Amino acid sequence: MTNVDLHCHSTISDGLLAPRELVRRAAANGVEMLALTDHDHLGGLAEARDEADALGIRFVSGVEVSVSWGGLTIHVVGLGVDAANSDLAQGLAAVRLGRDQRALRMADSLAASGIRGAYEGALRYVSNPSLVSRSHFARWLVEMRYARDVANVFEHYLLRGKPGYVEHQWCALEEAVDWIHAAGGVAVVAHPGRYRMSGEERDRMFTAFKALGGAAVEVVAGAHDHAAVREYARVARKYGLAASRASDFHGAGESAVDVGRAGPLPPDLEPVWERLAA
Ligand code: AMP
Ligand code: MN
Ligand code: MN
Ligand code: MN
Repeated sequence: MTNVDLHCHSTISDGLLAPRELVRRAAANGVEMLALTDHDHLGGLAEARDEADALGIRFVSGVEVSVSWGGLTIHVVGLGVDAANSDLAQGLAAVRLGRDQRALRMADSLAASGIRGAYEGALRYVSNPSLVSRSHFARWLVEMRYARDVANVFEHYLLRGKPGYVEHQWCALEEAVDWIHAAGGVAVVAHPGRYRMSGEERDRMFTAFKALGGAAVEVVAGAHDHAAVREYARVARKYGLAASRASDFHGAGESAVDVGRAGPLPPDLEPVWERLAA
């Protein structure tokens, strides 16, 4: 198996393609095994699996869970999860409730700096009313010409310290990993190169993740340059973690890496997909 992509988004969270369209694009890009990993939501999995079955692609049920750890937000991907598991479903429902409340606070914070109507504006970009992401705010802010593209909007409005950023408590690392395990899945640290962590914090995070039974780390990720791939390959070896390959594709024009088009894994690492039951 060479073209494996274990991280991407559909309109069930903040992706631009419906689950079925995303799977078609993956197939057209030569993907042999695909995981759909919407933020905090399992609602796209049945449709994606149906299309993957029709096209002869191996499908992995996934999710990307929002976690607070040491004052930072990190993302933990669950792969091979049973979408019918109630621990996972209830945990994600609680995370989504917090997401809604955060969206209202984000809009208040933007209003305080003179940008009114952001909640209603973001909702115009939301396909699934139970999942409002910063990406939806970003798309509306671009439409309103506060910045020229989504990346710029994040930089000036949505990252920590900027007018639309509010602190938020997601779930604990232990909860996310436990829910994934309860649902029969394996836990993967998503895009570690994106976290603003000191070396010491990073070591503590991976030590905690490994102690909880975490399985893998995204070594190849849409957000990782060559240096980050080398760095997180070292982390995988140091902590005895398997490695994942992850485009984190959201949509054409918004994502640097298309679905199935991330680089190869360093050859000495154990691919996490070898741990996923057939
Ligand atoms: P949320 O989980 O609602 O806080 O939104 C996080 C999402 O925002 C990520 O999954 C990305 O899709 C998007 N995002 C975060 N940071 C950036 C950035 N710097 N540029 C573009 N998109 C970003
Ligand atoms: Mn996203
Ligand atoms: Mn993420
Ligand atoms: Mn993602």
